[in-house]
Amino acid sequence: MAERIIPLLDQRNTSRPLAVPTVPLRLDGGQGLTDRLGRPLHDLRISVTDRCNFRCSYCMPKEVFDKAYPYLPQSALLSFEEITRLAKQFVGLGVRKIRLTGGEPLLRKNIEVLIAQLAQLRTPDGQPLDLTLTTNGSLLARKAQALKDAGLQRVTVSLDGLDDAVFRQMNDVDFPVAEVLAGIDAAQSAGLGNIKVNMVVKRGTNEDQILPMARHFKGSGHVLRFIEYMDVGATNGWRMNEVLPSAELVQRISAELPLQPLEAAAPGETAERWAYADGTGEVGFISSVTQAFCGDCNRARLSTEGQLYLCLFASHGHDLRSLLRSGASDADLTAAIGHIWQGRSDRYSQLRHALPADANGAGPRRVEMSYIGG
Ligand code: SAM
Ligand code: SF4
Ligand code: SF4
Repeated sequence: MAERIIPLLDQRNTSRPLAVPTVPLRLDGGQGLTDRLGRPLHDLRISVTDRCNFRCSYCMPKEVFDKAYPYLPQSALLSFEEITRLAKQFVGLGVRKIRLTGGEPLLRKNIEVLIAQLAQLRTPDGQPLDLTLTTNGSLLARKAQALKDAGLQRVTVSLDGLDDAVFRQMNDVDFPVAEVLAGIDAAQSAGLGNIKVNMVVKRGTNEDQILPMARHFKGSGHVLRFIEYMDVGATNGWRMNEVLPSAELVQRISAELPLQPLEAAAPGETAERWAYADGTGEVGFISSVTQAFCGDCNRARLSTEGQLYLCLFASHGHDLRSLLRSGASDADLTAAIGHIWQGRSDRYSQLRHALPADANGAGPRRVEMSYIGG
């Protein structure tokens, strides 16, 4: 087998220095804050740690994320108070949904304290936020009740197969399926509603798990979502020929379990929804590679060390942490975030095909997903 060379390129801290804007923020046309392509700011994903106890090859391959990998020191991380203060400004600018992610968010010590703080935030018209978290499920059985008690409303669990051998190979730390399934059960028992299960599909690796996963979660009340393997980061050795297009998945599943398309529940939704024709629930398909959904992308990302990223594929962030630590007022922070969003024109997935690509079809090198938050 040919040796795989994984370039290690540290894209962290390539942020642009931020100054307090001197021009006041203008919100035109009564539409609230929009970017240069008319997209509102609605979702905020916050990475609370760049560490993980799994080594999924598509995200944190073991060859790169080994003992010598320079994870961020504690002092570089935003504190819970800093995260909450920034989140509050984002909510003032239109954010209605916050997702905690990472790395593995349940590895962040006392994460439930942060959840309790975020659960207190209210929209300008007094509504609570849609507060959720994406986890690999390994610690969920232990933590589900505390998360729920702190104010978490729902949870998304990543699971790439039901066959133990395939799953252990995907997570690459020999973690068993049964413990993730126990985590999902615990989340349900704790009252975390609307549970979603994310499965990244890699051709030739876990494609034989598509139907077993569909059968398992059909009728369970949990929504399984298939994610196309994406060219995020610079280390996963992504190849276009390992991507299984969602359209093919719909056909494969429908041949045994007939599906019919559903309308999107909300604008900017990442997953295309399909219902089982027999009324036993639905599945989702996140087709970031074959069907770009940049047109209504309303997501901002806050990295573990407080860099604001406007796109999952952005090559640099905007340094909110320095601004925060320089003594900026809430009004300064709001103005800075608002101006950054107004200048946004990112639409990487739509442009992917036109960008200079490497031999595998991957575009320019970017920051890692574990740092920026998936
Ligand atoms: N550790 C948590 C987890 O795995 O759920 C949260 C962070 S993880 C980066 C968030 C999501 O990104 C997971 O559902 C994961 O499967 C997905 N992901 C990571 N790398 C990916 C890739 N190259 N292509 C598609 N999805 C990816
Ligand atoms: Fe960890 Fe999640 Fe990345 Fe897998 S996808 S390595 S669980 S952060
Ligand atoms: Fe949004 Fe960037 Fe993904 Fe397009 S490529 S949907 S702009 S995060």
